[in-house]
Amino acid sequence: MKTVEIICSACGVEAFLNREPIYEGFSKVGEELSCSACGHRFASEEEVPFKQRKAAPVIFTEADRSKKVQIFEAGEADTLCHYCASYVVNPFVQFCSRHKKEVQATDSCPEFERGGAKNPANSILGF
Ligand SMILES: [Zn+2]
Repeated sequence: MKTVEIICSACGVEAFLNREPIYEGFSKVGEELSCSACGHRFASEEEVPFKQRKAAPVIFTEADRSKKVQIFEAGEADTLCHYCASYVVNPFVQFCSRHKKEVQATDSCPEFERGGAKNPANSILGF
């Protein structure tokens, strides 16, 4: 018989459930359920303080999860060149006036500086 672990409600010990058949004459009329540690008898199956089974085995770990499809990491969208004070756009090029290089509106930058509306006067041609 497989052992069944319980945490006894009488003695508080992690023990095994003793399951003894009760016979009346030659016929089995029931089972006596008791604690292997203290012998406390449980009146019925419902009263048996079965030890909680461990959570179902974790088949998938965090590492197995497919990477969330996110265009921007959290917070990154706040530092997009598009919103940066150094971002200059004209019909031909998107340009970072801080790094003096071409950028995309969707680039992000650690030196992001929030800028207001794009001022057409703040053009690449002004440098
Ligand atoms: Zn007990």
